[in-house]
Parts: sequence; C-alpha cells; structure tokens
Amino acid sequence: MAAIDWKNLTFGYTPTNYNVRTYFKNGKWGALEVSSEETINIHMAATALHYGQEAFEGLKAFRGVDGKLRVFRWEENAKRLQASADAILMEPVPSELFLKALVKVIKLNEEFVPPFGSGSSLYIRPLLIGSGPQVGVRPAAEYLFIIFVTPVGPYFKEGFNPVDMEIVRDFDRAAPLGTGHAKVGGNYAASLKAGVRAHHDGYAASIFLDAKTKTHIDEAGPANFFGIRDGKYITPDSGSILPSITNMSLRTLAEDLGLSVERRHVLVEELSTFDEIGACGTAAVISPIKRIHDRDTGQDYLYCKDGKAGPISTQLYNTLQGIQLGTVEDKYQWNTIID
Ligand SMILES: *Cc1c(COP(=O)(O)O)cnc(C)c1O
Repeated sequence: MAAIDWKNLTFGYTPTNYNVRTYFKNGKWGALEVSSEETINIHMAATALHYGQEAFEGLKAFRGVDGKLRVFRWEENAKRLQASADAILMEPVPSELFLKALVKVIKLNEEFVPPFGSGSSLYIRPLLIGSGPQVGVRPAAEYLFIIFVTPVGPYFKEGFNPVDMEIVRDFDRAAPLGTGHAKVGGNYAASLKAGVRAHHDGYAASIFLDAKTKTHIDEAGPANFFGIRDGKYITPDSGSILPSITNMSLRTLAEDLGLSVERRHVLVEELSTFDEIGACGTAAVISPIKRIHDRDTGQDYLYCKDGKAGPISTQLYNTLQGIQLGTVEDKYQWNTIID
C-alpha cells in the first residue's frame, strides 16, 4: 500500500484492501463474503436503482491513546439501519450480523486506521440495498448488505473552526410524513441542489426548515442542529429529522455539564437568542456556526464574535472526542474495543 499522509487526509474515499458483503436471498441472510472488488454486480432492475430502496450508515473507528481500536456506539447505528430498512420496506440486518461484518471489515483493514493524534479516523460505511429485480413498484425479494471502510480526515476543511450556513425555503429535504427520519439516499438526492448552491455561494451547508410551515429548523445540511442559551442545550424535534447518534450523545454530555436539554421545535426567529449554535454528526462531531444567512429575508445571525467556537460547544466537542480516543473516561460504555 502507498504511504498515507494521515495528517492531511480529507473526507474522501481512499481505497482499502477489503470490504464485506452478504446477500439476503430465499428468505435468509447468506454467508459473510470478503471481497477486494470495489464494484458490485446487481440486476439492472434492482429496486435500489429504480425505486430508491437504499439506506446507509456512517460510524467511525479510532486508534486510541492506548493503541486500542475503538468503535463508537455501533449498536445505535445497527438499530437505526433497522429503522431505516423498516421505513422503506427492506429486509433489516440483525444486530449480530451487523457486528460480525463490522468487526471483520475493521480487522481486515487495520493498517488503514489512522494513528492516534493524526486527527483522522477510519470511516465505516454500511450500505443496505434492494438488489433483487422488480419492474412493478414493490419491495425487492433480495437485499445486499455491504460494509466498506475508508480513512478520513475532517469533514469540513475548517475542522473545528466555525463555518457559515444559509437558510433555504425554495428546497425541502424531507416531507413531514416522508422519510426524513430514515437514513436513505432519497433524502440526500432531494438535498443536493440546495447543498451545491450553498457551497457555490460560500456556505458550508444549507439549513432546511420544516416543509409544511417553513417556520422551524429541521436540519443543518447532513447534520442535526443545536443551540446553547441560558444553561440550555436546545435541539429541534420533528418527524422529518434524522435522529443523530452524535446529537443523542451530546445531549447526555450536556446534562453532565449541568445544562438542561430541550428537544422541541426551534423557530427561525429564535436564532437571534442563542449564544452558540452548531451542526452535529459523526463526520465532524460538532461544526460550530459563526453566521447563518437567511436567503429570503437577507438577515444575518452572527455568533463566535471572536472567531472561535463558543466555550460550551468546545467543551462538548473535546469531551466527546476524548471518549472516542480513550483520553476521557467512557463512563457510558459507548466504545466497543476491537481486538
Ligand atoms: C447521518 C445523518 C446525521 C448525523 O447522524 P450521526 O448519527 O450523528 O452521524 C444527521 N442528519 C442527517 C440527515 C444524516 O443523514
């Protein structure tokens, strides 16, 4: 393998040695296969290609300060993939199978886990697709579950430095009773135009509002939103938001810091009342936001007046990352050690 420059990795695809795959056919999951192919061979009438039967996950493995390999909260990703499968009528992957595939693919690619202190990690991408053919609109009878891994650096080139985002009303990523709560590709397809325009205009992501009333905040691009004010950690609650495992973890850590946690609708107007705001997800943990621009009203909401992330966001970020790297006590047993 060519030497990898661990410190300068971006959030992109770097080939590794192996991926693992298993097919659901004739009513049961088959053996776990190890592959070095980067391609998959599926029927041209596979439901994933026509009717969007596709769900994915994203989690990370870290090389800790003690040299041990840690995976963060995989059980939650396994459960969420089951929920996503249920939302679009795919065969769910049992948690035991998920774990078996996860451990196998990490061990097979151990040399691609970035070293402690590099700021990089091994990104793990489980994928579940309808692989069986259907011409009429109905769920497939066959499914393919794959996990591949790739070493990654920070999601935003800014790292833990504050970014700008923009509120959009001319696009929705998810309908109120649609699939916003499921981690499915269709939501991403719906968000691409707004996201590319945001990048083009100099924003890290678009902030999507609830599709029905366009009054409250749903998601910050591919991440959940949170705000801090008066000793409170406030994060939107709605059926069209993807339940982020990072956000769930931050809520627990916020309570540990003595903050009270509120999950409820967050109105756009409320943006002017927060001391700190950020986007959260596995890829970046927390991306502090320094400016939110409203495309329609032209209003700017400003934070991080000294150019740096706020104190509570910083503390939450350091604690969560410290747990992942083994430098902070993992008192909730969020890590699974792979040995
Ligand atoms: C994956 C994802 C998140 C973040 O979830 P984590 O479990 O924290 O990685 C947030 N929003 C959307 C739309 C997502 O797909």
